[in-house]
Amino acid sequence: MHDIKFQCKDCNEKDCTKSEANLLRYKPSWASVAGYDVCVAWIGEGAVSNDKSVMRMSEPPVDGKNCTLQVNHPFKASLRDPFWVLFRPWDSAVNGWEDFPHELEFARVVKCKPVEIIKKNAKSYWVVIEVLESMEFSKISDRFAKCSGPIQPYPTQRMSRIDWNDLIYFNANLEGDVTAWFICQKQGKQMAMLLYGTSGWHEDFFFAGNRPLSAEEFKCLEKDFL
Ligand SMILES: [Zn+2]
Repeated sequence: MHDIKFQCKDCNEKDCTKSEANLLRYKPSWASVAGYDVCVAWIGEGAVSNDKSVMRMSEPPVDGKNCTLQVNHPFKASLRDPFWVLFRPWDSAVNGWEDFPHELEFARVVKCKPVEIIKKNAKSYWVVIEVLESMEFSKISDRFAKCSGPIQPYPTQRMSRIDWNDLIYFNANLEGDVTAWFICQKQGKQMAMLLYGTSGWHEDFFFAGNRPLSAEEFKCLEKDFL
């Protein structure tokens, strides 16, 4: 069923199905899109043959262009169906947005059409994709209709907040193993949640949608992530 799959690094099972089950299970009811996050690296020109270090793409992907992805556990996909992934520019792909908040502007939610697998080994596949849609975070609320539903739970340790233009990034993690993050958007006096991400055991996901937040809900987030 999946053309791209790996022996599971979390439980070591050859045909583990937990990550794709979790992708559906953790998708919030307000999210329009579910996809994989940091297990996907966008490869820069001329780097395909180098297994040791990844030469990452620094410019955001453009609609209609072909790009190469290096995908790793727990990524799974079929070559028949489009899939969604995040594009994070170089520094935030490796180190997170805390130290590189300006890269929130250049990050994208991307719908990919798989074209071909050009190389694989036990750890990674290199897949050429066509970019069907490359969406700035600030445009997510224009693209998706407003939806309601519960906000996902998050760890209450090592919590941080970063404001960048109209976006606010909240991050929380438990011993560095279980991470949850949210990106909200200031829309005049209103607030909306646009993205939620989670990583941990059998998880490396992001979800995107347009979930307006009441003043009360936003106050709770602000208080927790102070
Ligand atoms: Zn597993």
